[in-house]
Amino acid sequence: MLVQQILKSKGDGPVITIKANTSIAEAANVLAERRIGGLIVSDDGQSVEGILSERDIVRSLALRGAVCLQDTVADLMTRNPVCCRKDETADSVLQKMTNGRFRHMPVTDDGALVGIVTIGDAVKARLEELAMEKDALQGMIMGH
Ligand code: AMP
Repeated sequence: MLVQQILKSKGDGPVITIKANTSIAEAANVLAERRIGGLIVSDDGQSVEGILSERDIVRSLALRGAVCLQDTVADLMTRNPVCCRKDETADSVLQKMTNGRFRHMPVTDDGALVGIVTIGDAVKARLEELAMEKDALQGMIMGH
């Protein structure tokens, strides 16, 4: 299954982004309200400057305490995140996520942000694909 199909099945809602100069306290609010684990950092909603995950906030809280809530997103984000394209397969995205040990991947088209795929989205797509393959093979073996 292609990333394009994953994005389609998730609906056409806009990707949730956050500006680099936002405070970590505000970013934590957005993550909690939207019930998500990661935010793409972009000043114009198009360019991908970084990614801020709940893990970045938890790590900083453990190291430095609540003072990190006054930092900006730019202070804690991962710059130049690994991105994928719409014509990439769910399998390739899963491999990149597993190798890089992260669970979010921005999707870009000519450098512009067009979506986000999470490890949950990629696993779901892969499971659906495997179930279809199994049905097709069973059909061939049983002769229908
Ligand atoms: P995650 O597992 O996605 O919550 O993130 C784990 C760590 O990887 C955090 O430090 C994130 O900032 C970073 N991260 C998340 N997504 C990406 C990505 N696509 N490319 C590079 N780093 C990432």
